[in-house]
Amino acid sequence: MPKTTKSNIPHLLGYTCTICHRHYPYEQEMLTCPDCGETGILDIDYDYDVIRKNISRDSLKDDHDNSMWRYKALMPLEDRDYGTFLRVGWTPLYRSLRLGDELGLKMLYLKDDGLNPTASLKDRASGVAVAKALELGYDTISCSSTGNAASSCAGNAARTGLKTVIFVPERAPQGKLAQMLIFGARVVSVIGDYRETFNLSKEAIAKYGWYNRNAGINPVMAEGKKTVSLEIAEQLDFKPTDWVAVSVGDGCTIAGVYLGFRDLYELGMIDQIPKILGVQSTGCSPFVDAARDNAPLKPTPENTIADSISVGVPRNPVKALRAVSASNGAWIAVSDEAILDAMREMGQKEGVFGEPAGVTSYAGVKQAVADGIIKSNQTVTCICSGSGLKDVVNALKAAGSAIRCRPNLEELEQTDLFR
Ligand SMILES: *Cc1c(COP(=O)(O)O)cnc(C)c1O
Ligand SMILES: [Zn+2]
Repeated sequence: MPKTTKSNIPHLLGYTCTICHRHYPYEQEMLTCPDCGETGILDIDYDYDVIRKNISRDSLKDDHDNSMWRYKALMPLEDRDYGTFLRVGWTPLYRSLRLGDELGLKMLYLKDDGLNPTASLKDRASGVAVAKALELGYDTISCSSTGNAASSCAGNAARTGLKTVIFVPERAPQGKLAQMLIFGARVVSVIGDYRETFNLSKEAIAKYGWYNRNAGINPVMAEGKKTVSLEIAEQLDFKPTDWVAVSVGDGCTIAGVYLGFRDLYELGMIDQIPKILGVQSTGCSPFVDAARDNAPLKPTPENTIADSISVGVPRNPVKALRAVSASNGAWIAVSDEAILDAMREMGQKEGVFGEPAGVTSYAGVKQAVADGIIKSNQTVTCICSGSGLKDVVNALKAAGSAIRCRPNLEELEQTDLFR
């Protein structure tokens, strides 16, 4: 059972509700606002004066921890050694050698977060979730997920000995399912869509008292995901690009992308927060629709090959919308065909293999350039949020098929290989 005593986290001031804006001092862990209930998603408030004493551009220069834990001074966690955890983060930021030129951009970078231990950006949240669950004395962690949060939760938990209970919709791709099962999670494949999966997990978590890793609800998840922005900034010598593009499902990732840059800005470590481009598939685009209509989010059918962002009822709308509005960014939707094209182009031209949701961000950059939202004198970072090996069925759709040939050189010369 979790302990509820006051933890020792000097840089954590408390929480602010994103709906009613009430402040709560940090006395114990909170998931949502007691007044607003489940929709009262909380922000975590930091004491930047304390943080400034523990982390700086100079201290990072001498830090040889090549993982996201190099930024633990900026996380809502007790200060301890995370060296025994899976090595999450510090993924490569590649300068694009071809795609940026093709788009006529001044500079394009690709942040390959598919190279995390369980092959998606979700590891950043799961690492923090596992740390928090252990800090609070839980023995079981649980979440519902379109796939990556679950496989990532299972892997990061396995490494620390925490038990995992996972709820996934039955459509979850085999690669992700195989990961969860290999990591020893108890996996419940829910006969229903993601919304129904989420609701079942919510009831079970409340009833059995497990640690709740549901990204939409738990405020520490975005605090883990924000490390992607801390890295992008540090890898660019604290001069991040004009734009950062990211694919959006529940909205927790884009919220984190903003929070990372906001923290650095508050600490005086960067001069400007990049504009954030939120990208969805036209097959499931509740955020893009709401932004276009200047209206609240409406439940949307989940109809895209990009399973990780096929989220009809996003659980983190306030923080996600703020990420784009506060950064003067933009929302954009792209078709599933454009996503498959992006998958092939990133693979062929840069050697980066992303899953459909992983490359949706790049498809969005292409569209935003075509629409004049991103200008040719601007610089862009595109976050590839998950590996293509998780979903080979769609990868093969994008890539076409191999040349078939008997083991005979003359026959080989008759094939398409030489055409
Ligand atoms: C989860 C996920 C996203 C979107 O993150 P949200 O927090 O749901 O918006 C994007 N890409 C991949 C690969 C993901 O797994
Ligand atoms: Zn509230």
